Amino acid sequence: MINNTNNQYNHKKIEWSLIEEKWRHKWDEQEIFNSDPDFSKKKYFITVAYPYPNSPQHIGHGRTYTLADAHARYMRMKGYNVLFPMGFHYTGTPILGMSRRIASGDKELLETFQYIYHVSEDAIKSFVEPIKIASYFHNEIKLGMKEMGYSIDWRREFTTIDKLYSKFISWQFNTLRKKGLIVQGSHPVGWCPKDQNPVSQHDTIGDVEPDFNEYILIKFKLDDGYIIPTATLRPETIYGVTNLWVNPNVEYVRIQIDNNERWIVSKEAARKLEFLNHKVAIKSSIYGKEIVGKYVEDPIRKDSIPLYPASFVESNNGTGIVMSVPGHAPYDFQAIEDLKKNISLHNEFVGLKVDVTPITIIGSDDYYYADVNDSILISPAAKIISKFKVKDQEDPQLEKATNELYSHEYYKGKMLQNTGKYVGMPVSVAKDMIKNEIISNGIAEIMFELINKPVRCRCGTECVVKILNDQWFINYGDKNWKKLAHECLNKMDIVPEEIRQEFNYVIDWLRERACARKSGLGTKLPLDEDWIIESLSDSVIYMSYYIVAKYISNNNNSISEDSSKLMIHVNNVDALNDSFFDYILLGNGDVRQVAAECNISISLIEAIRNEFSYFYPLDARHSGRDLVQNHLSFFIFNHVAIFARENWPRKIVVNGSVLMEGKKMSKSLGNIIPLRAAIKEYSADAIRLAMLSSAELLQDADFSFDAIKGIRSKLDDIYDIALEYSMVKSKFGSSLFSSIILSEAKTEIEDRWLLSRLQNHITDITASMDNLRVRKALHDILYLLDQDLQWYRKRITAKNRDDSLIAVTLSIFLDNRIRMLAPFAPFISEEVWEIIGGKYDSIIFAGWPIVDEDKRDPVAEESEQLIINLISDLQNILKVTKISPTKIIIYTSARWKQQIYQKILEYILLENKTNFGDIMKELVKDPETAKVKNDPKLIRNMIEDILSDPIEARNRRLKLTFFDEIFPLNDAKKLLSLESGNAHIEIIVHSEDEIQKYDPREKSKYSRPFKPAIYIE
Ligand SMILES: [Zn+2]
Repeated sequence: MINNTNNQYNHKKIEWSLIEEKWRHKWDEQEIFNSDPDFSKKKYFITVAYPYPNSPQHIGHGRTYTLADAHARYMRMKGYNVLFPMGFHYTGTPILGMSRRIASGDKELLETFQYIYHVSEDAIKSFVEPIKIASYFHNEIKLGMKEMGYSIDWRREFTTIDKLYSKFISWQFNTLRKKGLIVQGSHPVGWCPKDQNPVSQHDTIGDVEPDFNEYILIKFKLDDGYIIPTATLRPETIYGVTNLWVNPNVEYVRIQIDNNERWIVSKEAARKLEFLNHKVAIKSSIYGKEIVGKYVEDPIRKDSIPLYPASFVESNNGTGIVMSVPGHAPYDFQAIEDLKKNISLHNEFVGLKVDVTPITIIGSDDYYYADVNDSILISPAAKIISKFKVKDQEDPQLEKATNELYSHEYYKGKMLQNTGKYVGMPVSVAKDMIKNEIISNGIAEIMFELINKPVRCRCGTECVVKILNDQWFINYGDKNWKKLAHECLNKMDIVPEEIRQEFNYVIDWLRERACARKSGLGTKLPLDEDWIIESLSDSVIYMSYYIVAKYISNNNNSISEDSSKLMIHVNNVDALNDSFFDYILLGNGDVRQVAAECNISISLIEAIRNEFSYFYPLDARHSGRDLVQNHLSFFIFNHVAIFARENWPRKIVVNGSVLMEGKKMSKSLGNIIPLRAAIKEYSADAIRLAMLSSAELLQDADFSFDAIKGIRSKLDDIYDIALEYSMVKSKFGSSLFSSIILSEAKTEIEDRWLLSRLQNHITDITASMDNLRVRKALHDILYLLDQDLQWYRKRITAKNRDDSLIAVTLSIFLDNRIRMLAPFAPFISEEVWEIIGGKYDSIIFAGWPIVDEDKRDPVAEESEQLIINLISDLQNILKVTKISPTKIIIYTSARWKQQIYQKILEYILLENKTNFGDIMKELVKDPETAKVKNDPKLIRNMIEDILSDPIEARNRRLKLTFFDEIFPLNDAKKLLSLESGNAHIEIIVHSEDEIQKYDPREKSKYSRPFKPAIYIE
């Protein structure tokens, strides 16, 4: 017998590791995840960004792969021929950098390897060779992926330093070059001074993309001939400069720059200028305090303006001296106010007079609008400072005030009469014109500066911006290329859709990008073999390489004599050239000629070409959100440049990262959990569910041990139910198990209800899965389906049912539920599937559940809902009145009320009338319903009832022309007594229409459709 509590059944402890091993072995044996072209089936090609094997996987790495795997498994169950392959990214500095840190004895890193990941000492010693690191962790990560149950076709595995892969990347670059997209030039890049290498996101500690901006250096002249350059992002405010700020305690240097000018800048600035292609010779040093109080000439108005002391000026920002525009910069305004107040405290600056007046040069409706001759000048900065009630320079409100004023003036401000020929111009226009003018006049120069510093290279060195000369760049700035990228993006599915705008922005904003490095693993740049193609440039079209990789004969896969003829022998790779890839991937060239040139058979070339045509384009690309701004955008760019439109990618899926108990995972917090250790401890399925169920796609998932325990116990329940069910089943024998029996048998309301609800869930969960709303899907599978099952158990227990239909109903329910859980928790699902006697060797072949329309039963759903609502009403009443009842009388509404209810439902749903007056008018007009004019309250209540019901309930009731409430209530009498306190409480059900009913308090007149009235004795 199925009991309504789990406790009465002893949990059989699940041997997770045995179950996992068993199914891994079965999947391998059956080669379930190996995909080859099958023209009778629709294909689905799904990839996820391949890992750098430079450290083992921890929990944080698992989310993207797990999501992609659940997606792959779902599509497989939907009947697609799914290809889900994996490779390993050896290229570039991530592995090299790790190796160097080991060689230099980096203590933190060594301890992480030793104590967190338990790497043996011998292995660690070997890591000074980059390739040893790569192969060690390659193996580790692969084992972790297998243990997680990822449904990968491992025959296609490769590394990015495989010989043929290098040929493929050379082909990619030759193809881009032919299209004019590889350019040589001088451009700013993030740079590691130690490695003498450009750096981007994957070369830095913490995966930070060096982000830099173009500052304008405006030159102010000291009377001794030296120039003080100041960096600004707002060159238009040069008209409002009142003074400069210099840090009295910073050591500056006098330099000779480019043989023609002498500047005073901070030491750091002198170094940065060198990287920006300036010739810098340091002459002497000077403290800031030595120039405080001196005057410089401003280059536009030719006014003499003072240098004031300011400790907030940082030597590492810009040149270490900045201009002050108190009319428009709240910080400057406040600093002057503070200095006026405090100057007497500075003994060293005795005699320094602070007497500057803000100059207003930009007007806008909100912050300043007056003629420049207006005698009462309140500057925009002063105004916004009073609006934000800023107290002093330390006030955090100052930042907000600054941001608001800057953006307000940029979009709405106009230049005033004191800005010469720019008067009346919008700031957004004047800004560029002024910049160009002062640069061409020699008053200003450009300086690139990191805006997210410090950015550290993986070798530990702080990065700078460097102008790289005569170097190779991929020209993502090309306008036509951007157009194609937008075209592709517009046609693609972006999941979740809200991230699309970010892609549009990145496509517009990308410019030339350095594509090679002097060091690291990878492919030599075919145009210039001194350089190695970097890791974000050799990872953009490799999805197509998975097709080719299957055909290399040393690829870990055992191959029969027969199929070896259709393989490229590894020794033969040297002979392959660009014509091979032109033919396979683009369909260009003559196959006989390609075969002759490359020394392989025509049939082999055609087989690869056919496979490419079958699997391409890529149907879904999965990646973490941090790769939107580079990898995922480059992926779009390179596909549209190289492949025909029909082979452009179709979908990108982006997910957020994983937090550990609400915190970012980091070595210093000590909360990194190696993935393989976690699998041993908690099981792969529980980890998979914890990663996918805790957050919507873009949110960060919070991995917590409480959550994982909760999930484990849910999975235990599912396993227990399967075992219980298998016992019930064996009691009745397996001959019962067909739906023919179900349709012929006399089913009970709760059987029909459970299966009807199941159809609704299948509809909802399928819709969630189609949009990869996995959190919602899992919630429905684990919790909503569970609630239904609990209710079903309550009902059959109260009715003392012990018939074979229970087993039939449960078999259908469990069968569907476990198939929906299968993409997420593959191990337990296979095991349960076997226990309940599923027909196929693997649950994958059982397919994704399809809605059975015949099982939809609105009457059953309405009936159970009525009982559920009534129980909750009863319990509320009993709680409030504190009665211990002996008798409960339930009155269902009269027939005429039901007819009116139906009419009101039609007004609301079909005619969209919800107003009481309108509805009342209609009802009174009709002689059949006119009598309601005596009872407006009833109508008001019915309208309220309907409007407070969920849409699905309203729609369901619209279709029910008549619903008998008495039958289900009689059916559930026993449960109603139990839920009201005990089995001895007598339950009586009357219709309001009955003439001889027991109704001592005339309660029946309060009954409404779907809202029976209750009387308790
Ligand atoms: Zn470095």
